[in-house]
Amino acid sequence: MKPAPFTYHRPARIEDAVRLLAELAPVEGRVLAGGQSLVPIMAFRLARPAHLVDINAVAGLDRLEARGGALRIGALARHARFHRRVVDGPLGALLAAVVRHIAHYPIRLRGTFCGSLAHADPAAEWGVVTASLDGELVAVSARGERRLAARDFFQGAVETALLPDELRVGANGKPPLHSRFQKGHSGNPEGVAAIAPTARSGCRHCSKRSSTGGRRPRAAGSAGPPRGARRSSPPSSTNPSPAICAP
Ligand SMILES: Cc1cc2nc3c(=O)[nH]c(=O)nc-3n(C[C@H](O)[C@H](O)[C@H](O)COP(=O)(O)OP(=O)(O)OC[C@H]3O[C@@H](n4cnc5c(N)ncnc54)[C@H](O)[C@@H]3O)c2cc1C
Repeated sequence: MKPAPFTYHRPARIEDAVRLLAELAPVEGRVLAGGQSLVPIMAFRLARPAHLVDINAVAGLDRLEARGGALRIGALARHARFHRRVVDGPLGALLAAVVRHIAHYPIRLRGTFCGSLAHADPAAEWGVVTASLDGELVAVSARGERRLAARDFFQGAVETALLPDELRVGANGKPPLHSRFQKGHSGNPEGVAAIAPTARSGCRHCSKRSSTGGRRPRAAGSAGPPRGARRSSPPSSTNPSPAICAP
């Protein structure tokens, strides 16, 4: 199947991207970043944006800024950037360990960290990382800049607090003191990941602050945690892969 017809826009400046979104979001305008999630669903006509605002030519959005072990990740930072440690210490090690779980290399060359958060697939790695590390998401629109804590940003499977005319321009991650990541067998719809910053060293403390991804359906009316929600106990996983620790 082919995508439904749409008009393509390719702004070169962030101001132009924001202006286009303000104008086009009310008429089914949508951001295109790496296209690795959006284009397939357009091909199946599960999404039919009338306008695509391609941000790939916007200067400066691919920036990664590391300060004091923390990191700001620009909207066009591709997954593959994280194969190398982009920041010293446990955060860089954690990101480099996690990225290898995402799809395969050609997809990692194109897909973006921020696009993954905006798409909010429950099984996506970066959402779980960002929620576990108490990350902050930065969005801009014609109304100005808005910062959202990850726990407020993720509202459910493929549901976020991002407004249609907002452009995600970055994500800020705090450095964990210790972290742990694990994933269920690929194909397992309850893929689980847990990462936790804690003042203590040792994986047995990782459940202190952790997040769970996956597609476990919630019973109607149940108050179970949405994707990325913090848990106070370790997530259950069927046959998880060996944990990767990035101390
Ligand atoms: C075969 C395959 C396997 C995959 N496996 C995995 C996997 O194992 N783990 C995993 O985590 N992901 C996986 N993915 C998804 C991949 O990581 C995508 O790159 C990611 O989900 C979306 O990033 P993107 O930059 O491609 O966003 P796009 O596809 O361009 O956009 C996705 C959505 O986010 C919105 N969006 C994107 N950027 C912004 C922004 N800056 N501001 C506002 N809205 C924005 C778009 O409007 C769209 O709604 C897989 C994809 C494929 C095709």
